[in-house]
Amino acid sequence: MKTENNYDIAILGAGAAGLMAAISARRAGDPRIAILEKNEKAGKKLYATGSGRCNVLNRTAAPEDYRSGEGDAAGFVSGVFAQCGPSGLRDIFESLGLDTVEEDEGRLYPRSLQAASVVRALERGAFGSGGAGNPAELVSGFEAKTVTRGADGLFCVTSADGRNVFVKRLIVATGGKAGIQYGSDGRGLKIAESLGHSVVRPIPALSGLVCEEAELMQKLAGVRAHGTVRLFAQEGDAEMLLAEDTGEIQFTKDAVSGICVMNVSGYYRRKGDEKFILAIDLMPDIEEASLAEKLAARKAQLGDYFLDALLPEKLAAVLLEMPEGQTAESLAHLLKNLRFTPVASKGWKDAHTTSGGVTLEEVDEKTLESKIVSGLYFAGEALDVDGPCGGYSLTWAFACGWIAGEAASV
Ligand SMILES: Cc1cc2nc3c(=O)[nH]c(=O)nc-3n(C[C@H](O)[C@H](O)[C@H](O)COP(=O)(O)OP(=O)(O)OC[C@H]3O[C@@H](n4cnc5c(N)ncnc54)[C@H](O)[C@@H]3O)c2cc1C
Repeated sequence: MKTENNYDIAILGAGAAGLMAAISARRAGDPRIAILEKNEKAGKKLYATGSGRCNVLNRTAAPEDYRSGEGDAAGFVSGVFAQCGPSGLRDIFESLGLDTVEEDEGRLYPRSLQAASVVRALERGAFGSGGAGNPAELVSGFEAKTVTRGADGLFCVTSADGRNVFVKRLIVATGGKAGIQYGSDGRGLKIAESLGHSVVRPIPALSGLVCEEAELMQKLAGVRAHGTVRLFAQEGDAEMLLAEDTGEIQFTKDAVSGICVMNVSGYYRRKGDEKFILAIDLMPDIEEASLAEKLAARKAQLGDYFLDALLPEKLAAVLLEMPEGQTAESLAHLLKNLRFTPVASKGWKDAHTTSGGVTLEEVDEKTLESKIVSGLYFAGEALDVDGPCGGYSLTWAFACGWIAGEAASV
């Protein structure tokens, strides 16, 4: 077995959290840092974020915007943001030479509108020769398979090809399983479990939802419409509202997607054989009774074209073919409550983040150090925290990376 140089800190994963952890560890002290990354280069997923533009932060991100697979994450996120929140992160990026520009709802992008600028800024901070502390070393092609702790207190990280790295402190920044094609495949969560941590079952979040109504989906493929989506869990006759959001809804040949659907998708957490309902309100600004009156009046005035400008043509045609499309009252009800039955999420390749991960109760939110194994830290999507679309996931990953790196450095 080959043994790599010994380091003070090893960071598993050169993604958003891992690169930021290296930067803060370097600035906080003078440790020898290795980032162990299975890919050949750092930041592979970052290049794909924001459709290549990277929505790098959300200026307004607040603890209440985040959740955990098991419920509330606000208290934990507060502990992290109290030390390093969106405005502190914006300053850190500025110090790395990355100017940002704000779009709607607090979304920050690199001024170049190129994700590559974000990766380069992080690489400069982590590996560049200028600045404080030792540059971190990227050990690429290193797929961490197991981690053990010896009697000497050192962690031994063993790669799939049999290399060992011995370190005093270890930061697990391996992501969850979302965007699996970019490297995060859940191995880090298995490592956490092997070290005694419990993990909330990871499920895809910020993903489209595959629905049972195959024939209807085929007909609607390609339609984009505005509306409110509500995800319910059905128990007997009772429907429990899990989440709702408003925005553009996109229909594909097997799934319902769009940002608002992605935002509710993390609540599609199957516990048994319960049924889920995705109800779409295509007219959220008007009550059903008023809508029925409006439709009747438009029909009298516009004849066959009474849905024109209210709905995309293709969607209108499909709804008018349905039995409920025949009277103003039943059509109003359908428009307010178009129901689909999600049977799966689009999966790990489609998902932008993970719901679930390392249980928050077992991690100190001030340092991100494990409460079970001293010297072990977690950062980013590996933790059981997820947020909505809009820069929230990266804000979380960078904030965690900063805190964990700083804490592991001293
Ligand atoms: C297509 C897409 C677009 C997105 N767009 C945005 C956006 O615009 N804004 C936003 O806020 N969020 C976005 N996200 C979400 C965001 O990218 C992630 O939440 C964030 O990158 C998580 O950071 P992380 O460092 O925790 O994990 P990751 O970025 O997943 O990094 C984990 C790293 O660990 C490595 N790794 C995994 N296992 C091992 C192992 N066993 N050994 C060694 N290395 C390992 C991986 O290869 C990877 O490099 C997007 C996600 C996707 C998939």
